[in-house]
Amino acid sequence: MIEFENVYKTYEKGSRALRDVNFRIDDGEFVFVTGRSGSGKTTIVRLLLREITATEGRVLVDGTDLAQLKQKEIPFYRRRLGVVFQDFRLLKDATVFENVAFAKYVTGAPRSEIVAEVPKVLERVGLAAKYRAYPGQLSGGEQQRVAIARAIVNSPEILIADEPTGNLDPANSWHIMKLLEEINDSGTTVLVVTHSRELIEGMNKRVIDIRRGTVNSDGLWDPATAEKEARARLEARADRKRPRPGMRRPDGKRPMSSAKAEARMAEARAKIEYPDETPAAEPQEHAAADGAGEVTE
Ligand code: ADP
Ligand code: MG
Repeated sequence: MIEFENVYKTYEKGSRALRDVNFRIDDGEFVFVTGRSGSGKTTIVRLLLREITATEGRVLVDGTDLAQLKQKEIPFYRRRLGVVFQDFRLLKDATVFENVAFAKYVTGAPRSEIVAEVPKVLERVGLAAKYRAYPGQLSGGEQQRVAIARAIVNSPEILIADEPTGNLDPANSWHIMKLLEEINDSGTTVLVVTHSRELIEGMNKRVIDIRRGTVNSDGLWDPATAEKEARARLEARADRKRPRPGMRRPDGKRPMSSAKAEARMAEARAKIEYPDETPAAEPQEHAAADGAGEVTE
Protein backbone atom coordinates (compact mmCIF):
# COMPACT_ATOMS: atom_id res chain seq x y z
CA MET A 1 0.00 0.00 0.00
CA ILE A 2 1.19 3.47 -0.93
CA GLU A 3 0.25 6.42 1.27
CA PHE A 4 0.91 10.12 0.77
CA GLU A 5 0.10 11.99 3.98
CA ASN A 6 0.08 15.79 3.85
CA VAL A 7 3.07 15.75 1.52
CA TYR A 8 4.81 19.01 0.68
CA LYS A 9 7.86 19.22 -1.53
CA THR A 10 9.84 22.39 -2.07
CA TYR A 11 12.94 22.08 -4.22
CA GLU A 12 16.16 23.77 -3.24
CA LYS A 13 15.72 26.74 -5.51
CA GLY A 14 12.53 27.49 -3.62
CA SER A 15 10.08 26.21 -6.20
CA ARG A 16 7.21 24.47 -4.47
CA ALA A 17 6.29 21.34 -6.41
CA LEU A 18 3.77 19.72 -4.07
CA ARG A 19 1.53 21.04 -1.33
CA ASP A 20 -0.59 18.97 0.99
CA VAL A 21 -0.89 15.92 -1.24
CA ASN A 22 -2.97 13.09 0.20
CA PHE A 23 -3.91 9.78 -1.35
CA ARG A 24 -3.76 6.08 -0.71
CA ILE A 25 -3.24 3.33 -3.26
CA ASP A 26 -4.10 -0.21 -2.22
CA ASP A 27 -2.27 -3.31 -3.35
CA GLY A 28 -3.41 -4.44 -6.77
CA GLU A 29 -4.87 -1.10 -7.87
CA PHE A 30 -4.36 0.53 -11.27
CA VAL A 31 -4.14 4.29 -10.90
CA PHE A 32 -3.48 7.13 -13.28
CA VAL A 33 -1.79 10.29 -12.05
CA THR A 34 -2.54 13.14 -14.39
CA GLY A 35 -2.25 16.90 -14.63
CA ARG A 36 -0.63 19.35 -16.98
CA SER A 37 3.12 19.70 -17.20
CA GLY A 38 4.72 21.25 -14.14
CA SER A 39 1.86 20.19 -11.87
CA GLY A 40 4.08 17.88 -9.80
CA LYS A 41 3.55 14.38 -11.25
CA THR A 42 7.21 13.45 -11.62
CA THR A 43 7.88 14.76 -8.13
CA ILE A 44 5.38 12.18 -6.85
CA VAL A 45 7.25 9.48 -8.79
CA ARG A 46 10.64 10.61 -7.49
CA LEU A 47 9.34 10.56 -3.92
CA LEU A 48 8.16 6.99 -4.44
CA LEU A 49 11.50 5.96 -5.92
CA ARG A 50 13.12 7.57 -2.89
CA GLU A 51 15.26 9.76 -5.13
CA ILE A 52 14.06 12.67 -3.01
CA THR A 53 12.28 13.01 0.33
CA ALA A 54 9.28 15.11 1.30
CA THR A 55 9.86 18.57 2.79
CA GLU A 56 6.86 17.95 5.04
CA GLY A 57 4.48 15.04 5.49
CA ARG A 58 5.11 11.37 4.89
CA VAL A 59 5.34 8.95 1.99
CA LEU A 60 4.72 5.41 3.17
CA VAL A 61 4.98 2.09 1.37
CA ASP A 62 3.50 -0.79 3.33
CA GLY A 63 3.72 1.36 6.44
CA THR A 64 7.40 2.24 6.02
CA ASP A 65 8.14 5.96 5.93
CA LEU A 66 10.53 6.23 2.98
CA ALA A 67 12.33 9.18 4.54
CA GLN A 68 13.35 6.89 7.41
CA LEU A 69 15.08 4.35 5.17
CA LYS A 70 18.79 4.12 5.75
CA GLN A 71 21.03 4.69 2.76
CA LYS A 72 21.93 1.01 2.57
CA GLU A 73 18.27 -0.02 2.68
CA ILE A 74 17.31 2.06 -0.34
CA PRO A 75 18.54 -0.39 -3.04
CA PHE A 76 16.56 -3.19 -1.38
CA TYR A 77 13.47 -1.01 -1.23
CA ARG A 78 13.85 -0.12 -4.92
CA ARG A 79 13.90 -3.79 -5.89
CA ARG A 80 10.27 -3.91 -4.90
CA LEU A 81 9.50 -1.42 -7.65
CA GLY A 82 9.57 -1.61 -11.41
CA VAL A 83 10.04 1.67 -13.23
CA VAL A 84 9.38 2.75 -16.81
CA PHE A 85 10.26 6.15 -18.24
CA GLN A 86 9.18 8.17 -21.26
CA ASP A 87 12.61 7.81 -22.89
CA PHE A 88 12.92 4.00 -22.38
CA ARG A 89 16.47 4.23 -20.93
CA LEU A 90 17.71 1.01 -22.50
CA LEU A 91 21.35 0.03 -22.90
CA LYS A 92 22.03 0.83 -26.56
CA ASP A 93 24.89 -1.62 -26.95
CA ALA A 94 23.03 -4.53 -25.41
CA THR A 95 20.47 -6.79 -27.04
CA VAL A 96 16.86 -7.02 -25.94
CA PHE A 97 17.71 -10.20 -24.04
CA GLU A 98 20.73 -8.62 -22.37
CA ASN A 99 18.81 -5.50 -21.36
CA VAL A 100 16.28 -7.59 -19.48
CA ALA A 101 18.82 -10.16 -18.24
CA PHE A 102 20.99 -7.41 -16.78
CA ALA A 103 18.21 -6.28 -14.43
CA LYS A 104 18.11 -9.83 -13.08
CA TYR A 105 21.86 -10.23 -13.02
CA VAL A 106 22.37 -7.22 -10.75
CA THR A 107 20.13 -8.78 -8.10
CA GLY A 108 22.52 -11.73 -7.94
CA ALA A 109 20.17 -14.15 -9.68
CA PRO A 110 21.89 -17.35 -10.84
CA ARG A 111 22.45 -17.89 -14.53
CA SER A 112 19.94 -20.73 -14.67
CA GLU A 113 17.21 -18.45 -13.36
CA ILE A 114 18.10 -15.68 -15.82
CA VAL A 115 17.98 -18.09 -18.74
CA ALA A 116 14.65 -19.47 -17.56
CA GLU A 117 12.91 -16.19 -16.69
CA VAL A 118 13.97 -13.69 -19.34
CA PRO A 119 12.35 -15.50 -22.30
CA LYS A 120 9.11 -15.81 -20.31
CA VAL A 121 9.01 -12.09 -19.66
CA LEU A 122 9.82 -11.27 -23.28
CA GLU A 123 7.00 -13.57 -24.29
CA ARG A 124 4.66 -11.67 -21.99
CA VAL A 125 5.43 -8.33 -23.63
CA GLY A 126 5.22 -9.84 -27.11
CA LEU A 127 8.90 -9.60 -27.99
CA ALA A 128 10.10 -13.19 -27.79
CA ALA A 129 11.03 -13.18 -31.47
CA LYS A 130 13.23 -10.09 -31.15
CA TYR A 131 15.43 -11.14 -28.27
CA ARG A 132 18.63 -10.70 -30.31
CA ALA A 133 17.77 -7.22 -31.65
CA TYR A 134 19.41 -4.05 -30.41
CA PRO A 135 17.25 -1.16 -29.22
CA GLY A 136 18.21 0.88 -32.31
CA GLN A 137 16.58 -1.77 -34.49
CA LEU A 138 13.24 -1.52 -32.71
CA SER A 139 10.29 0.85 -32.96
CA GLY A 140 9.51 3.14 -30.04
CA GLY A 141 6.64 0.89 -28.99
CA GLU A 142 8.90 -2.16 -29.03
CA GLN A 143 11.59 -0.36 -27.05
CA GLN A 144 9.03 0.54 -24.41
CA ARG A 145 8.01 -3.13 -24.26
CA VAL A 146 11.62 -4.05 -23.55
CA ALA A 147 11.68 -1.43 -20.79
CA ILE A 148 8.50 -2.91 -19.35
CA ALA A 149 9.95 -6.42 -19.53
CA ARG A 150 13.00 -5.16 -17.67
CA ALA A 151 10.79 -3.47 -15.08
CA ILE A 152 8.78 -6.61 -14.33
CA VAL A 153 11.46 -9.28 -14.59
CA ASN A 154 12.10 -9.21 -10.85
CA SER A 155 8.36 -9.46 -10.08
CA PRO A 156 7.97 -6.02 -8.45
CA GLU A 157 5.05 -5.29 -6.14
CA ILE A 158 4.56 -1.89 -7.75
CA LEU A 159 5.10 -0.83 -11.35
CA ILE A 160 5.55 2.91 -11.86
CA ALA A 161 5.48 4.42 -15.34
CA ASP A 162 6.18 8.13 -15.84
CA GLU A 163 4.69 9.23 -19.18
CA PRO A 164 5.40 5.80 -20.73
CA THR A 165 3.66 6.76 -23.95
CA GLY A 166 5.07 10.27 -24.23
CA ASN A 167 7.17 9.32 -27.25
CA LEU A 168 4.69 6.96 -28.89
CA ASP A 169 1.93 7.34 -31.46
CA PRO A 170 -1.68 6.73 -30.38
CA ALA A 171 -1.84 3.10 -31.55
CA ASN A 172 1.37 2.12 -29.76
CA SER A 173 0.32 4.12 -26.71
CA TRP A 174 -2.89 2.17 -26.52
CA HIS A 175 -1.06 -1.16 -26.77
CA ILE A 176 1.31 -0.15 -23.98
CA MET A 177 -1.66 0.79 -21.77
CA LYS A 178 -3.25 -2.57 -22.43
CA LEU A 179 0.01 -4.31 -21.54
CA LEU A 180 0.18 -2.35 -18.28
CA GLU A 181 -3.39 -3.36 -17.59
CA GLU A 182 -2.50 -7.05 -18.14
CA ILE A 183 0.39 -6.70 -15.71
CA ASN A 184 -2.03 -5.20 -13.21
CA ASP A 185 -4.47 -8.08 -13.78
CA SER A 186 -1.78 -10.47 -12.66
CA GLY A 187 -1.59 -8.70 -9.29
CA THR A 188 0.99 -5.92 -9.59
CA THR A 189 -0.01 -2.47 -8.38
CA VAL A 190 0.35 -0.11 -11.35
CA LEU A 191 0.76 3.66 -11.22
CA VAL A 192 0.82 5.41 -14.58
CA VAL A 193 1.62 9.09 -14.98
CA THR A 194 0.21 10.59 -18.14
CA HIS A 195 -1.15 13.90 -19.29
CA SER A 196 -3.02 12.21 -22.14
CA ARG A 197 -6.75 12.55 -21.63
CA GLU A 198 -7.48 10.23 -24.56
CA LEU A 199 -5.71 7.34 -22.86
CA ILE A 200 -7.35 8.02 -19.51
CA GLU A 201 -10.80 8.28 -21.00
CA GLY A 202 -10.44 4.97 -22.79
CA MET A 203 -9.39 3.00 -19.72
CA ASN A 204 -12.02 3.64 -17.04
CA LYS A 205 -9.60 3.59 -14.10
CA ARG A 206 -9.05 5.61 -10.97
CA VAL A 207 -7.48 8.97 -11.78
CA ILE A 208 -5.64 11.23 -9.36
CA ASP A 209 -5.66 14.65 -11.00
CA ILE A 210 -2.87 16.94 -9.79
CA ARG A 211 -3.24 20.66 -10.22
CA ARG A 212 -0.57 23.12 -9.15
CA GLY A 213 0.99 20.62 -6.80
CA THR A 214 -2.10 19.35 -5.05
CA VAL A 215 -4.81 16.75 -5.60
CA ASN A 216 -7.61 18.35 -7.57
CA SER A 217 -9.75 15.23 -7.87
CA ASP A 218 -9.41 11.53 -7.21
CA GLY A 219 -11.75 8.91 -8.59
CA LEU A 220 -13.11 7.44 -11.77
CA TRP A 221 -12.64 9.93 -14.60
CA ASP A 222 -15.77 11.51 -15.95
CA PRO A 223 -14.91 13.65 -18.99
CA ALA A 224 -18.10 15.73 -18.77
CA THR A 225 -17.48 16.71 -15.15
CA ALA A 226 -13.83 17.46 -15.82
CA GLU A 227 -14.79 19.76 -18.69
CA LYS A 228 -17.43 21.56 -16.62
CA GLU A 229 -15.05 22.09 -13.71
CA ALA A 230 -12.36 23.48 -15.99
CA ARG A 231 -14.79 25.98 -17.50
CA ALA A 232 -16.16 27.06 -14.13
CA ARG A 233 -12.65 27.67 -12.85
CA LEU A 234 -11.74 29.71 -15.88
CA GLU A 235 -14.92 31.79 -15.71
CA ALA A 236 -14.33 32.47 -12.01
CA ARG A 237 -10.81 33.59 -12.70
CA ALA A 238 -11.86 35.79 -15.60
CA ASP A 239 -14.62 37.35 -13.49
CA ARG A 240 -12.16 38.36 -10.83
CA LYS A 241 -9.97 40.09 -13.38
CA ARG A 242 -12.59 41.61 -15.70
CA PRO A 243 -13.05 45.35 -15.06
CA ARG A 244 -16.57 46.18 -13.96
CA PRO A 245 -18.61 48.38 -16.35
CA GLY A 246 -17.72 52.06 -16.11
CA MET A 247 -14.70 51.31 -13.99
CA ARG A 248 -11.45 52.91 -15.07
CA ARG A 249 -8.40 50.75 -15.11
CA PRO A 250 -5.52 51.94 -12.92
CA ASP A 251 -3.46 52.59 -16.06
CA GLY A 252 -6.16 54.96 -17.36
CA LYS A 253 -7.05 52.81 -20.39
CA ARG A 254 -10.67 52.01 -21.07
CA PRO A 255 -11.87 48.51 -20.19
CA MET A 256 -11.92 46.05 -23.05
CA SER A 257 -15.21 45.79 -24.95
CA SER A 258 -17.23 42.77 -23.94
CA ALA A 259 -17.03 41.38 -27.49
CA LYS A 260 -13.27 41.55 -27.37
CA ALA A 261 -13.25 40.08 -23.88
CA GLU A 262 -15.39 37.19 -25.10
CA ALA A 263 -13.01 36.58 -27.98
CA ARG A 264 -10.11 36.53 -25.53
CA MET A 265 -11.98 34.12 -23.33
CA ALA A 266 -12.55 31.77 -26.26
CA GLU A 267 -8.86 31.96 -27.10
CA ALA A 268 -7.91 31.26 -23.51
CA ARG A 269 -10.33 28.35 -23.28
CA ALA A 270 -8.76 26.73 -26.30
CA LYS A 271 -5.43 26.79 -24.48
CA ILE A 272 -6.44 25.23 -21.21
CA GLU A 273 -6.65 21.59 -20.23
CA TYR A 274 -3.81 19.38 -21.19
CA PRO A 275 -2.59 20.66 -24.49
CA ASP A 276 -0.79 17.84 -26.27
CA GLU A 277 2.51 19.49 -25.58
CA THR A 278 5.81 17.98 -26.47
CA PRO A 279 8.19 18.01 -23.49
CA ALA A 280 10.43 20.62 -25.11
CA ALA A 281 7.56 23.11 -25.27
CA GLU A 282 6.57 22.69 -21.61
CA PRO A 283 7.81 25.96 -20.11
CA GLN A 284 5.96 28.15 -22.64
CA GLU A 285 2.81 26.05 -22.46
CA HIS A 286 2.86 26.41 -18.73
CA ALA A 287 3.30 30.17 -18.87
CA ALA A 288 0.55 30.53 -21.47
CA ALA A 289 -1.85 28.43 -19.43
CA ASP A 290 -1.12 30.49 -16.30
CA GLY A 291 -2.18 33.68 -18.04
CA ALA A 292 -5.18 32.07 -19.66
CA GLY A 293 -7.69 33.93 -17.52
CA GLU A 294 -6.40 37.40 -18.40
CA VAL A 295 -8.86 39.51 -20.31
CA THR A 296 -7.18 42.87 -19.94
CA GLU A 297 -4.17 43.86 -22.01
P1 ADP B 1 5.35 17.30 -13.92
O1 ADP B 1 6.01 15.97 -13.91
O2 ADP B 1 3.90 17.28 -13.59
O3 ADP B 1 5.59 18.02 -15.20
P2 ADP B 1 7.35 18.05 -11.93
O4 ADP B 1 7.08 17.23 -10.73
O5 ADP B 1 8.47 17.62 -12.81
O6 ADP B 1 6.00 18.21 -12.77
O7 ADP B 1 7.62 19.53 -11.48
C1 ADP B 1 6.77 20.23 -10.58
C2 ADP B 1 7.35 21.61 -10.33
O8 ADP B 1 8.59 21.50 -9.66
C3 ADP B 1 7.63 22.41 -11.59
O9 ADP B 1 7.34 23.74 -11.32
C4 ADP B 1 9.10 22.20 -11.82
O10 ADP B 1 9.65 23.29 -12.49
C5 ADP B 1 9.63 22.09 -10.40
N1 ADP B 1 10.81 21.23 -10.33
C6 ADP B 1 10.88 19.94 -10.72
N2 ADP B 1 12.10 19.42 -10.47
C7 ADP B 1 12.82 20.42 -9.91
C8 ADP B 1 14.17 20.51 -9.42
N3 ADP B 1 15.00 19.48 -9.47
N4 ADP B 1 14.58 21.72 -8.92
C9 ADP B 1 13.74 22.77 -8.86
N5 ADP B 1 12.46 22.73 -9.29
C10 ADP B 1 12.00 21.58 -9.82
MG1 MG C 1 6.92 14.89 -15.44
